[in-house]
Amino acid sequence: MANLKNKFDAAVIGAGPSGIAAANDLARKGFNVIIIEKRPRLGLPVRCAEFVPKQLYTYCKIPKNSIAQEIENLETHMPDDSIVITKSPGYILNRHLFENHYLQEALANGATLALESEVIYVNHNQLLVKTKTRTRSIEASYIIGADGPLSAARKYITSNKIQLAQSLQGVITLKTHQANSKVFFHPDYYMGYGWLFPKGATANLGLGVSYRPGISINDIWSKFLERLKIDNASLKSLTGGLIPVSGLMKNIAKNNVLLVGDAAGITHPITGAGIANGIISGVTAAAIISKNLQRGRRGLEEYEQEIQTLFGKSHALALMNRKYQEEHWNSNPELLTRVIKNTWIAFSSYSHRKRGEVKCKVAD
Ligand SMILES: Cc1cc2nc3c(=O)[nH]c(=O)nc-3n(C[C@H](O)[C@H](O)[C@H](O)COP(=O)(O)OP(=O)(O)OC[C@H]3O[C@@H](n4cnc5c(N)ncnc54)[C@H](O)[C@@H]3O)c2cc1C
Repeated sequence: MANLKNKFDAAVIGAGPSGIAAANDLARKGFNVIIIEKRPRLGLPVRCAEFVPKQLYTYCKIPKNSIAQEIENLETHMPDDSIVITKSPGYILNRHLFENHYLQEALANGATLALESEVIYVNHNQLLVKTKTRTRSIEASYIIGADGPLSAARKYITSNKIQLAQSLQGVITLKTHQANSKVFFHPDYYMGYGWLFPKGATANLGLGVSYRPGISINDIWSKFLERLKIDNASLKSLTGGLIPVSGLMKNIAKNNVLLVGDAAGITHPITGAGIANGIISGVTAAAIISKNLQRGRRGLEEYEQEIQTLFGKSHALALMNRKYQEEHWNSNPELLTRVIKNTWIAFSSYSHRKRGEVKCKVAD
């Protein structure tokens, strides 16, 4: 940060997929953008199962070298040990290559990247950025909070907290080729699920669950590995991370500061998927900010409205299904199987739940 300018058209906090998408689009249009990232370097290991739906291509090209494996089907392993296979076309990415592709594009378009720089305070069009050696102030006409589940930018907009789930993930070597992505439901995996997402010779193996007093994710993780007959020692790159599960936040913009991706709770509350949604919100933010910059306008109400239009309905439905899960979660595998059939995205009954219908009985 030694020779950094102090004034930018836009400052993006966080170099995840949402922030990179926003920064890249703004830089491509000729705006003066800085990406401020607290990590010392980007890349591996990624804290992510790396699945994206194929439809993402409507928002951005998916570079061939970033695709680890193409997926057509999802195997849902139910609590009663039945397996249901449904269509779920997508890609398991090498996410670090995917992000790097767009980061390099943004840098080539003139964006500035400041690593090892943590934003500690956001106020209107000013940011306080802490590095190893000093704290300095940066000014920007627009600030994009793309700083993930524990967003510092969010504090400027709202005091509301978001609900988070916890997760653990490692990489295993596969003995045989796996064509499908797999998810595993069990009474122990409270309001969550385990996953095995294949990447050719290896796979991302993970578990995401909601917090329960007195129950540690490490214990659930051990049982999950035991059930899949996987030796803990064979796991590489063990990571974990927080996943927003309370849905799109009500307030995601104030004055000239807005939130994208996990910072705004745009992650899907049932699946925990947030890469595609994050990119869509980043691209939307960049489009509205560039319009404002070109026309000398300021407000970000259009961003809030657009994001509501894009995600409002699907998040409301997901949250109703989540509430239904919370009320009906069951230690009986047969009963829990019925709950999952009502609330998991692979089943048609997922979208049949209507507003106010959450108290209905477990369906057959
Ligand atoms: C284990 C796991 C598996 C997942 N699997 C999938 C999946 O298969 N498919 C999917 O779509 N989604 C998945 N997700 C969710 C997905 O990873 C997130 O939704 C996505 O990363 C959100 O992108 P983002 O850019 O909004 O935030 P992030 O990726 O969290 O990026 C935020 C960035 O901001 C930086 N930062 C934070 N605070 C500051 C600060 N104060 N100053 C400067 N920098 C800061 C962080 O270091 C980080 O680089 C998974 C999540 C987890 C934890």
